[in-house]
Amino acid sequence: MSDLIIENGRIVDGTGAPAFEGSVLVEGGKITALGADADAKANPGIKRIDATGQTVMPGLIDTHCHLSFDDAGSNSEIFHQRRNALSALVASYNARKLLRAGVTGLLDPDSTFENMIDLRDAIDANIVEGPRMSCGAYALITGVGGTAGRLIADEGVSGYYMPVNNKDEIVQEVRRQIKYGADWIKVHVTGIIPRQSHKGELCVWTMDELKLICDTAHDLETPVMGHCRGADATRKAALAGFDLIFHGTAMDDAALDVIIDRKIPIAPALTFQYNMVEFGKKIGTSDNLMSIFEREITDSIETMTKAHKEGVPLLTGSEAGFSLVPYGDWHYREMEVFVKYFGMSTLEAIQCATQKSAFGIKMAGEVGVIAPGYRADIICVTGRVEEDLSLLGNPDNITNVMIDGVEKDLSPPPKRNPIQGWRLASIGDMRLTREVAYGGEQPTATLNIEELH
Ligand SMILES: [Zn+2]
Repeated sequence: MSDLIIENGRIVDGTGAPAFEGSVLVEGGKITALGADADAKANPGIKRIDATGQTVMPGLIDTHCHLSFDDAGSNSEIFHQRRNALSALVASYNARKLLRAGVTGLLDPDSTFENMIDLRDAIDANIVEGPRMSCGAYALITGVGGTAGRLIADEGVSGYYMPVNNKDEIVQEVRRQIKYGADWIKVHVTGIIPRQSHKGELCVWTMDELKLICDTAHDLETPVMGHCRGADATRKAALAGFDLIFHGTAMDDAALDVIIDRKIPIAPALTFQYNMVEFGKKIGTSDNLMSIFEREITDSIETMTKAHKEGVPLLTGSEAGFSLVPYGDWHYREMEVFVKYFGMSTLEAIQCATQKSAFGIKMAGEVGVIAPGYRADIICVTGRVEEDLSLLGNPDNITNVMIDGVEKDLSPPPKRNPIQGWRLASIGDMRLTREVAYGGEQPTATLNIEELH
């Protein structure tokens, strides 16, 4: 790795502090000095990057990105159309889009064939270029299923799930995943069952089972993360010892109290919903469905705002992997949710996407901040990002992306052609009734949105 100095930039350091002008010196893959100190220490022959008119900031960290799903339109596609090696190869292609979007770190919660463990190792070995990765393996689920309902087999792997049907299987599966290299254990704590009277998702585990997962994983120094929607599930997961909560929507005071008491980070991953709220019309979504999606965000305003104020880290996650949040386009977007709905300043939101989200890749204190001693995961972005977060949405604005001080290839990936049998064949959701065929007014198209994640 070559040493370098980034000059004339405007530094947003990722701690929430105001932007300031100055240089950043990178030596041996680490940030070693800032400002006048950096100018003085830099030796004359060093590589120089001129960041005039640019923001110099830590790379973004996306703590909820499924790199093996390949912008899927449905769970069925992920469960039935994919092959192991090919989906890992496709993920390596998509990983480059994340680099171009300024993402230098990501947490992949669960993957088909748990093959993102292999991509992570390939990136670490410098065989494939991509962001730093931390990942789970198969998501643990009980026999009753979860958000993919009857797509999930009673036994054995399906899609990105592994059902565990008793306590012995829980212990066995947690240990197996750790043996094969999972950084995290992912649990689908909530699901939907047919004919339930409960509104929203139900907790599908007992407290003892959740504790057993945590105890088994923690004994092997591995943290646990859970998909939790609803108050009961979030409270139970928090009490059981979960280290990271995904979604955390619809919390009540009892759940929030435990979260605040233990300062358990939450990655709400509401970009999916926000895209639907703002752009649903463009893909033919009905007003009714759009308001359901917006309610999922607005119902959480009070709890998320309070959690943030009380010092609970809110992490950014895009839920990329599904067709509503394609790779490369929306990784910055969760910050806009935090600003618009949870009352954060843009600098606070940037801190969530950098310093705080470093927890998701198990590198808190090592990356996510521009300060001496931190690893040089840095991006240069044209314009003042703290005044307009959407600048991060255009890869052309992102001129330099480095990890450990090594500059990444930001050229666009080659144009992609279709892969046979990869997408789920569909004749669309519109029912061709006689009214549609011959009627005067065009009814609004409805989108068949499964409860994906
Ligand atoms: Zn997800």
